[in-house]
Amino acid sequence: MTSAKLIDGKAHAAAIRQEVSRVAGEWASHHGRPVGLDVILVGDDPASQVYVGSKERQAAAAGLRGKVHRLPRDTQQEALEALIAALNADSNVDGILLQLPLPPHLDAAHAVGCIAPGKDVDGLSTTNAGALVLGLPGLFPCTPSGIIELLKREDVALRGARALVIGRSTLVGLPVARMLTHCDATVTLAHSKSRDLQALALEADVLIVAAGKRHLVPGKWIKPGSVVIDVGIHRDADGALAGDVVFDEAVGRAALLTPVPGGVGPMTIAMLLSNTLKAAHLRAGVIESTSPRTH
Ligand code: NAP
Repeated sequence: MTSAKLIDGKAHAAAIRQEVSRVAGEWASHHGRPVGLDVILVGDDPASQVYVGSKERQAAAAGLRGKVHRLPRDTQQEALEALIAALNADSNVDGILLQLPLPPHLDAAHAVGCIAPGKDVDGLSTTNAGALVLGLPGLFPCTPSGIIELLKREDVALRGARALVIGRSTLVGLPVARMLTHCDATVTLAHSKSRDLQALALEADVLIVAAGKRHLVPGKWIKPGSVVIDVGIHRDADGALAGDVVFDEAVGRAALLTPVPGGVGPMTIAMLLSNTLKAAHLRAGVIESTSPRTH
């Protein structure tokens, strides 16, 4: 039985952070200030605290000014949006990230909509979502950008390839399907109402699974020799992490496979730093704002 080559997301993420660090250093010497990423955390959700802490540490390690605004759980919508408005107006701030989920009394979509599109490093605003659809420059969600980056860095031939994306969330499935289309893949976007996922998957040269369902995809669904990207993360009772794909079975069918953990996960924060740098360059006009098609 052949065994898939595993994609080392940690190594790719480290390489991206190193590139970010080099360019961020050049930016700081040229502009007399570091590239700035401001993260807003409302409340004390333990998982969010961990994510935000990692973002702060990794930003600092890459030479960015990373600042976390920790707001109490009972913060009101007006106060949150007043902070966003102040950060929008602050020329030292290049990227703004509102850590989700917000406490239930807050309107997350409205607050995200208040972030200036040029500083929306999570790529969740309608302006950036529209730019992605139209193939225009913009800031795009970090996890899908990380998936495309992994495929590129692993020299996966996407032009003309059949790709299946399972999951159509605005955070992962939908944007990655659009990015794959921009890379000239022939893309099918499946979801919970799709019929016969196995038949669709068996045709896929590239299979991206972002359904959030532990072990949804068994080995027999995987086209032999294909590339499989597992976005799902699930913590088992014993503390171990599992994905949406049955890893032990997939490894005998796929040619290239992301492990969980250590595949897609490490790329997300690396792409956030990269997006922040991109935001700084876009705002400074260093990246031509009319060039077509990007991902
Ligand atoms: P989500 O918002 O819950 O979306 C899940 C999508 O999968 C939906 O479109 C849903 O279809 C579809 N789906 C659910 N069950 C299905 C089934 N049985 N068959 C086919 N499609 C099904 O999840 P998400 O935010 O995209 O996240 C997906 C997974 O990725 C989660 O495990 C999450 O933890 C992980 N994730 C990882 C990272 C990372 O950095 N590694 C980042 C983000 C997310 P409908 O639209 O029809 O409901």
